[in-house]
Amino acid sequence: MLILEVIFFFILGTIFGSFYNVVIYRLPRKESIVVGSSHCTNCNTPIKPYDLIPILSYVLLQGKCRQCKHPISSRYASIELLTGITFALTYMRFNFSYETLVGLLLSSILIIIAMIDIDTMEIYDRFQVFLLVLAIPYILWISPYHFITHIIGFFIISVPFYIIALITNGIGGGDIKLIAMAGLLLGWQNTLVTFLLSSILGGIVAIILVATKQQDRKSLIAFGPYLCIGIFISYLYGPQLIKWYINLIT
Ligand SMILES: [Zn+2]
Repeated sequence: MLILEVIFFFILGTIFGSFYNVVIYRLPRKESIVVGSSHCTNCNTPIKPYDLIPILSYVLLQGKCRQCKHPISSRYASIELLTGITFALTYMRFNFSYETLVGLLLSSILIIIAMIDIDTMEIYDRFQVFLLVLAIPYILWISPYHFITHIIGFFIISVPFYIIALITNGIGGGDIKLIAMAGLLLGWQNTLVTFLLSSILGGIVAIILVATKQQDRKSLIAFGPYLCIGIFISYLYGPQLIKWYINLIT
């Protein structure tokens, strides 16, 4: 693995990330994601191609629109950076392989799901379908696990979630479908890792919110984004985390 290749995947990720920004912004507003160029949300000036370089443009423009100097949310550059990092990590884990290809598609859809969930508290069904379509070839041709492992993965957390949802109404349908589809892709062992990671992460953030008296910030309580982080980490490092944990307790 060459450092140049890691950098290549990082830059590729930032370019894709800038497209995901468009998707994340326009999908909930029911705007076309292919028609229409990017424009400043304040003065409506179309953004010049040379000001659309991922991350770099944001840094060079010091986070302001070139025309009206209105501050641009750091969120766009953050999503580009995040996509770049997940692409680079995926390549570092799987090198040139089908696992990497699945990892890139998976991290892409997870970033879009998480950000739209933060904005709207909703996970669209079309993303669940995307995960299903991704899971099928993965299970058939790429996965190191047995077919049954994946089927159990579909049910292992989604069924308890569904029962809890019936009793308490505390878990959204989108989260249940997400952990079912991701469970199918990951297999049941990695799905358990996903559940543990996202619960720990969500728990830590919830404690911080209560401690800093910000628990009214509902967007941070959405479980979807934590699930997304858990799914990504499990896809990359699930087996290593399980091995590490077993060594720890035995
Ligand atoms: Zn402007």
